[in-house]
Amino acid sequence: MIINMKNFFLLPTLLLFGIGCAPVARDVPLDIGFQNQPQQDQGIAVGEFHPDAPAYTRVDFGLVDGIIEPFDFTAEIPSTWLVEVLSEIESVNIYDPNIAGVNNLEKSQIFVRYFQANDFLTLNTVSILNKEKSEVNGRSTVTYDILKKADVENFRLQPSWRNGRHLVTDMRVSDSNPSVFYVFGRRPDLDEDVFGRFLKSLRFSGQENMSFVYPIDEFEERVTKKPFGIFIEPATSPVQPERFSGYHTGVDIEYGDAEDDVPVRAIAEGVVVRSGFVSGYGGMVAVRHEIRGEVYVAIYGHLDSASLVSNGSVIREGQKVGILGDAFSSETDGERKHLHFAVHRGNLVNVSGYVESERELGGWVDPVEFLGF
Ligand SMILES: [Zn+2]
Repeated sequence: MIINMKNFFLLPTLLLFGIGCAPVARDVPLDIGFQNQPQQDQGIAVGEFHPDAPAYTRVDFGLVDGIIEPFDFTAEIPSTWLVEVLSEIESVNIYDPNIAGVNNLEKSQIFVRYFQANDFLTLNTVSILNKEKSEVNGRSTVTYDILKKADVENFRLQPSWRNGRHLVTDMRVSDSNPSVFYVFGRRPDLDEDVFGRFLKSLRFSGQENMSFVYPIDEFEERVTKKPFGIFIEPATSPVQPERFSGYHTGVDIEYGDAEDDVPVRAIAEGVVVRSGFVSGYGGMVAVRHEIRGEVYVAIYGHLDSASLVSNGSVIREGQKVGILGDAFSSETDGERKHLHFAVHRGNLVNVSGYVESERELGGWVDPVEFLGF
């Protein structure tokens, strides 16, 4: 919002004095509220901006002229900003046309590049002054505070702030190897809230149809006791003692060795259709997902009830739905620390962890196959 109010004030001023007239722009008192400004009454075109205009717009980068793969994401940017593609260096420049600068690169607010690698990369052209790991909507990120090395030439076709000290956030968007990383460079004086909102709003539409986020780390590797469809009886169960019997409708992902909180995430966009304590699970979340045109309800069981996302929430893929409950407590309804994850076809919220016949089992899909990347 602050940015927009600045823009609102700057735009007519720049039109008056000429865009690119830096000293004038610097003299403008940026903290004046637009309702006090006389410019509006002076008949000066202020573009499409007015007080009721939305502060942010979701931009589909896949529709920008000259776009190249894999910049096929959408994200929210301040409504007055614009986007250009620099195909020669496979980058996207998100800039504020209303600030001073000799060209669009010098008005750059966020500069986007991408690369394919097996892990987060460190470039030898820059010094890393600080490094912070984080997560945005279930995607791993690393934010670097970087400074170009003095003996390295200035980066060609990039904003000049890229040659000075600034922050870049690398985001891993696929779990395949090598995977795609986006690098979001942030103009040093860009408002942190505006940048944070941009990152959180990112959606990689092209990939949502083909792949999903796993509901938990080490999803396949930790299915060590009860895979999908296994027939369980108390006497022969891989888990002892055992109180259940029947065909297992989901997979159990074992986390008995984890002392820290283990986050559980939505595998895709969806709506929470049940959230709370369910006998046999402790805390449980059911999410309705539409995937490849079909409706499914996914069950995320044995979660800490206090951590659950609330019923009715609209959630994104990768969004945390809760954390695993503590072993042998009410949080897991007396079970070991693990995630029971099941995917049932159709709209019905069926919380059964076991069914009596293979015919009934046909209502569920094998989550490991279903989420196969
Ligand atoms: Zn289970």
